Amino acid sequence: MEGIQVKANYHTHTRRCMHAVGSDEDYVKSAIKSGFDVLGFSDHTPWKYESDFKANMRMPLSQFQDYYQSISSLREKYKDQIEILIGLECEYYPKYMDWLKQFLKDEKIDYILFGNHYQKTDEIHRYYGRICKDAESLNAYVEDAIAGMETGLYSYLAHPELFMRCYPKFDEACREASIHICEAAKRLHIPLEYNLAGLAYNEQMHTEEYPHHCFWEIAAEMECDAIVGVDAHDNQDLENSGRWQRAHEYLNSLHMHVLDHIEPHYFGK
Ligand SMILES: [Zn+2]
Ligand SMILES: [Zn+2]
Repeated sequence: MEGIQVKANYHTHTRRCMHAVGSDEDYVKSAIKSGFDVLGFSDHTPWKYESDFKANMRMPLSQFQDYYQSISSLREKYKDQIEILIGLECEYYPKYMDWLKQFLKDEKIDYILFGNHYQKTDEIHRYYGRICKDAESLNAYVEDAIAGMETGLYSYLAHPELFMRCYPKFDEACREASIHICEAAKRLHIPLEYNLAGLAYNEQMHTEEYPHHCFWEIAAEMECDAIVGVDAHDNQDLENSGRWQRAHEYLNSLHMHVLDHIEPHYFGK
């Protein structure tokens, strides 16, 4: 596909995460309808916790086989119309990374996205979208983001400025944080995601959490690679071509280098 404009989205959830709607096939049909060439599923990954903790925003490990089989069969059914990839959106949990690496290999996952949602593990309930209200939690977010990127496992960093979900205003500490994240992304050749679920939220609520223009101005200045991710939690999200268009126009206005596709990692190959 070198040199040819590709319409690809790698950020797609399914009902298994308990906060998304639509059947797996609905997402595929919406993607085809909207002219996507590539649809990557990246539902919130399961983890094998040491405790009896049960997360309420991701599939339990027991549903993973159903996820894999359902998408595999859709990949086969629609192979002449769209390329389907089987991925996951994963956090960076230091004590579970060995398990994750083995899991990705064993299950032959195509790629993973980095959603730096929680500090260390969600068993301790430190959601960065809620705790980043001061410099200390912001630093923890940045540290995890960089350490995670350094593992080389993730194809891109989703909603890189997730901290703006709750940080009161984009101040000097946010500027510093953004510079550190962008530096690492640039050094490690990891694209940054311009997140359309966040854009939809901003537009509906007349607010600016993520994506935040201050972050993207820094990313553009530092010549980072960008990629647009729908972060679909409803198959209809894939059909919103206006939002897709506005995001690309905005990034182009910053003269960002925008990738139209990524090369999957293909774990286990
Ligand atoms: Zn989600
Ligand atoms: Zn996410």
